[in-house]
Amino acid sequence: MKVMKFGGTSVGKPERMHQVSQLITRGDEPTIVVLSALSGTTNSLVEISSSLAHGNREDAKQKIEKLEIHYKNFVMDLLHKEEFQAKAYDIVKEHFEFLNIILKISFSEALNKDILAQGELLSTKLFSVYLQEAGIDHVFLPALEFMTIDANEEPQVGSIKVKLSQLLQQYPDKKLFVTQGYICRNARGEVDNLKRGGSDYTASLIAAAIKASVCEIWTDIDGMHNNDPRVVSKTVAIEQLSFDEAAELAYFGAKILHPACIWPAQHYNVPVKLLNTMQPDAKGTTIQENANSKGVKAVAAKDGIIAIKIKSSRMLLAYGFLRKIFEVFEKYKTSIDMITTSEVAVSVTIDSDAFLKEITKELEPFGTVEVETNHTIISIVGNEIASTDDVLKRLFDAIAAIPVTMVSYGGSAHNISLLLPASYKTQTLQLLNEGLFGLK
Ligand code: ASP
Ligand code: MG
Repeated sequence: MKVMKFGGTSVGKPERMHQVSQLITRGDEPTIVVLSALSGTTNSLVEISSSLAHGNREDAKQKIEKLEIHYKNFVMDLLHKEEFQAKAYDIVKEHFEFLNIILKISFSEALNKDILAQGELLSTKLFSVYLQEAGIDHVFLPALEFMTIDANEEPQVGSIKVKLSQLLQQYPDKKLFVTQGYICRNARGEVDNLKRGGSDYTASLIAAAIKASVCEIWTDIDGMHNNDPRVVSKTVAIEQLSFDEAAELAYFGAKILHPACIWPAQHYNVPVKLLNTMQPDAKGTTIQENANSKGVKAVAAKDGIIAIKIKSSRMLLAYGFLRKIFEVFEKYKTSIDMITTSEVAVSVTIDSDAFLKEITKELEPFGTVEVETNHTIISIVGNEIASTDDVLKRLFDAIAAIPVTMVSYGGSAHNISLLLPASYKTQTLQLLNEGLFGLK
């Protein structure tokens, strides 16, 4: 059995849904299809929710109306027979009635999650009607019946496995299943989600639970690239990546894959393939246990980084200092991306300013605290780059002109990270493209 996940742009237009229906029926292997919401929908739902949270009901109402029109048009273009148009129309009506009812209820976090879930519910239901019209036999699997997270918002893989296999056992003769990405139930039994971009995570959790032969993530780009195609003009798709390399890349900026999606696949050893709906026969990127080659594979950038430096002579020869500093970040649930230390100072980076003030204040008793915002982390990722010839020399030769503020090297065998002011990002990515990949 395999898993095929399609992102918002792959289902965002009627003709794309048609393409998806062809892709999922190409092979013989039983398949679970995971869909995101139509492109733009989750963003609209976030806006609707935030209007409501701010008490702007009128605003929310207008946004709901606009979205409803979009869906009504979508349905008319997607389907051709009256019977199925009517069916899809009813689905749209039902979900927008729900949103309109919500307008009248007082806002809560649980309600927010209900609003956000509408996108995937709509996309999968409409796709299912489309398959019915096309005469493609399939089973609709509601994700809310098997996808659960615990009180710490961690997916309950064991329980997902049991519930999903029970569901699948009811359809021993069926080969095609359609379910929602992103949405789940939380420990209180409420509708919740796996965070923005979480459909990839759903796909890899399902793939892990059923020990799929492969977890295919279909997007609108032909795999992970060696550099950011939005920033540098010449990039190439990477054919093979190890799970570790992919995790570093996904975390440090390669927007194509949700970072959390790597661990279930890695843990249950299911290969992940990144494929392009527009070019279904292109090789894409395969992510699996063995990386197959040594050396630099890619560079990626992560923006919005804040550097915090704590200087203290008390750190000299003292132990327990780092623990106390880390405890401050832990208290504010703020994760640290990079860290370097010297005998009298420690520098860390974070990517969220939500508790910056509180954190800075609590760090002050430890020494002088300097904060620099608006930085970018550039990560150079590859298999055993540390021991591969010349990488450090080529790297630093290439970026001799860049004022690097921090370097992290040796934390893992597949990552070297640089911190620099955001204004140097484009230049650095270009220089590295030439220096490390020979791409101009
Ligand atoms: N629809 C959700 C989002 O836009 C989940 C996803 O697309 O992966 O974040
Ligand atoms: Mg996505």
